[in-house]
Amino acid sequence: MEGIVKWIEKRAETAPERTALIGERRELNYRDMSREINQTARLLSDQHAVKKGERIAILAGNGVEYMVLLFAIAKLGAIAVVLNTRLTAPELTFQLNDSGAGLLVAEGCYRELGTQLVAGSGLADVLWFDPHGLTAERLEDRISECEGTFGETGADASLPFIICYTSGTTGRPKGAVLTQENMFWNAVNNCLGLDITSADRIMALLPLFHIGGIGLFSLPALFAGGCVILPDRFEPERVLKMIEEHRVTIALGVPTMHDLLRKSPAFEGTDLSSLRWLYNGGAPCPHELITYYLDRGIPFGQGYGMTETSPTVFLLSKEDYTKKVGSIGKPVLYCDIRIVDDEGRDVKAGEIGELLVRGPHVMQGYWNLPEETNKALRDGWLSTGDLVRADENGFVYVAGRKKEMIISGGENVYPLEIEQVIRELPSVDEAAVVGVVDLKWGEVPAAAVVLKERSPEDEGEAETSQEQSRLEEVQSHCMRRLAKYKVPATIVFVSALPKNATGKVDKNQIKIMLEKRMEENRHGD
Ligand code: ATP
Ligand code: MG
Repeated sequence: MEGIVKWIEKRAETAPERTALIGERRELNYRDMSREINQTARLLSDQHAVKKGERIAILAGNGVEYMVLLFAIAKLGAIAVVLNTRLTAPELTFQLNDSGAGLLVAEGCYRELGTQLVAGSGLADVLWFDPHGLTAERLEDRISECEGTFGETGADASLPFIICYTSGTTGRPKGAVLTQENMFWNAVNNCLGLDITSADRIMALLPLFHIGGIGLFSLPALFAGGCVILPDRFEPERVLKMIEEHRVTIALGVPTMHDLLRKSPAFEGTDLSSLRWLYNGGAPCPHELITYYLDRGIPFGQGYGMTETSPTVFLLSKEDYTKKVGSIGKPVLYCDIRIVDDEGRDVKAGEIGELLVRGPHVMQGYWNLPEETNKALRDGWLSTGDLVRADENGFVYVAGRKKEMIISGGENVYPLEIEQVIRELPSVDEAAVVGVVDLKWGEVPAAAVVLKERSPEDEGEAETSQEQSRLEEVQSHCMRRLAKYKVPATIVFVSALPKNATGKVDKNQIKIMLEKRMEENRHGD
């Protein structure tokens, strides 16, 4: 199979003037994008001696340049190591050394971090660029001399193309090795699942260093000949303005982003009528958030994916999104799933089991982690570590991560179910439930809860008595809605939930905090 650069080169012939990329400073049509991919590939090969299979790390914010770089790397048959700009220097040094990157392409605004990485790793070469042209040359200036067609068009699509590190929610991030073929199948699955066409104008809300930014739905949009809109970063006001200005049709984000968008002072005054999908992925979405958008006539869908699957596994279709609130829908076309018990037997409809995934979009394995790869991939089936259930009609619901499941007195307790119940209260903003050690039951659920700002009726009430009444409210709501063994043994109010670099709730930190708090209480008694 030919590589993904073909998508752009073909459009450069058939629809050269059509807009491919819109960034905050410049736009590229398909003809210019194709030219810049070629020039960037020349720059990398002629001036930085990049060869097939070599790893090139990228440390940059979203933008036109990032997308061009990815395609240039694809054209060279090299491998992009997309670095999370929110990680620390030691975390990134590990990823650079682990992937054996020879070249770092870094944006000028990360000079301090980039310099630390150069000092601490085996990097041989750095290419600095700055979209603003302030601290280094702009990439388009660097490549302007690099004319002449690059020898080969694309590389073998079955070879590694991206090493994308997982979010590190359950441990140290693992480098999922994804090929151009994986990208192709993810594009096919998403385009067919959401009817993505050349008329779509798709905004990348997630960073391009995360598989969500690449695969949901930037590459699918370019595969379809559509347009990708790339804000530099997620800032609600700016994002809303760009949705209105560029008539964005689809935008995918994580729950925190959807929550921040609606809380923005600019939300009510923004024309969002061009959106045919606001989509959620990457983490469980509170029902209240989904219905908030649905009530305002904004189609809000939810899918499920993971780094290891490029990423889409499930999508909720336009026929079902209003009827199946909370579901992640059904598997995409070229993808098989199973839901199995601990012995590997398929569970019945309605029962919870681990999700297994098989398809042409599933990764080759984890970079440098043969044991982890063998554990995760068996006979082509990927063990996701996620617990799900399917209803009678095949709609799937996420129950939580296997690692987070609590066993209390022999009963399975799913933190997500308790979190959803606590979040039903209008006074609650966020909630996270973890298992903590208990002498009698082995483990019991405990909750960290973030309250919304104080409501007007609370005015005048002392802070502690307000908290006391909120505590009773959460407790009695849980007692009403949940079996006794699921009611959190401890509820602690916090000002914010700790999140990891991808914006996902860091449950390990919450567990440590709650256990410490319970220990203090025991001593206080
Ligand atoms: P790590 O694998 O390093 O622990 P991670 O699993 O968070 O981190 P990602 O690949 O970014 O890394 O995330 C994939 C995971 O996100 C899935 O396995 C699943 O647990 C969760 N997820 C994705 N979409 C949804 C969704 N719609 N609802 C609930 N959970 C989701
Ligand atoms: Mg994972």
